Amino acid sequence: MSQFGKFFLPGPTEVKPDILAAMSRPMISHRGSEIETMMTRIDERLQKVFRTAEPVFTVTSSATGLMEAGVRNAVRSKLLCLINGAFSQRFYKAAVNSGVACDKLEVEFGTAHTPDMLADALKRDHYDVVSVVHSETSSGVLNPIRELTEVAHASGDVVMVIDTVSSMAAAPIECAAWDLDYVLTGSQKAFALPPGLAFCTANARVLERAKASPIRGLYFDLVEIHNSWKKHQSPNTPGVSLLYALDVQLEHMMAEGIESRWARHAAMANRTWSWVDEQRAAGRDIRVLAPAGYRSPAVTCITAPAGRTGSQIVAAMKSRGFVITAGYGDKKDTMIRIGHMGEHTVEELDVLLEALAEVIAS
Ligand SMILES: *Cc1c(COP(=O)(O)O)cnc(C)c1O
Repeated sequence: MSQFGKFFLPGPTEVKPDILAAMSRPMISHRGSEIETMMTRIDERLQKVFRTAEPVFTVTSSATGLMEAGVRNAVRSKLLCLINGAFSQRFYKAAVNSGVACDKLEVEFGTAHTPDMLADALKRDHYDVVSVVHSETSSGVLNPIRELTEVAHASGDVVMVIDTVSSMAAAPIECAAWDLDYVLTGSQKAFALPPGLAFCTANARVLERAKASPIRGLYFDLVEIHNSWKKHQSPNTPGVSLLYALDVQLEHMMAEGIESRWARHAAMANRTWSWVDEQRAAGRDIRVLAPAGYRSPAVTCITAPAGRTGSQIVAAMKSRGFVITAGYGDKKDTMIRIGHMGEHTVEELDVLLEALAEVIAS
């Protein structure tokens, strides 16, 4: 087996062997004291990761399930969907497919939404929910969710539905202090767990709206999920093996400390960005797509040098034993993406960047 430290996808991320091993434990009942004891531990630790005393729910689904849940449980009349890449677009689709009225506030790929833009848009029509992606994994752009939330709340009874799939446990996010209403993430990005679990926090405003939502459905009904959560259970059978992995990983995350985890991600991101600067100084025409000040600490999107496609660079890295990925969707020729998140270190990243420098120079 390959050693840890070669797999730098922006999700799923590399999973430590002890986490994988935890999943081979025997089954327990999803009702009763054993699972309730484990879920009590998990629930408390997730609140520390989300930095909130509000409930943090764990569901067995990919993160998209909780994007859809946010739309279906929180919208009363009309959603304003902030779009700057492939994942933020997904909220729009969830709204349209759920029969929810929705407008787009779209900015160019590779850029962020500013608070002023949002303030203007909220004056033009009556919206009661704004959806936004914090770390747009398709472009590496980080949206200013704290400031956007301030603007939304200042404009009236508007709640924020926030995707932090690639930023939770990587970037500083203060759910309580920033008054974020609904925040969702998934297991396979900066949590460095296998795919298959998703987590969200919902404050009282969202839970109040959920009770009145006629389209909240069954599986992602936050009212039912909340009722079960109070008993440290889930409405349906959860992915018990994944919960074992989560239990162990949260213990590691608590041992590292959430602020140290943020600092480690900031260090990896800074290393990647300064590497790009060094490469450019050495004559390679590459750049970080996202503007300074709006860059995700978890994923960097880099423009491919002239004459090389993203897919060619990815293949050359693969033959050296490293996994990165090309630009998302139609950007696969013009960009590459490095996921510097989860359990990776600056030291491992340096080895990757050294190989990438060779590939780009060749
Ligand atoms: C990966 C990702 C998703 C989708 O997650 P799934 O677990 O595949 O549903 C959504 N939003 C962002 C920002 C992501 O990075």
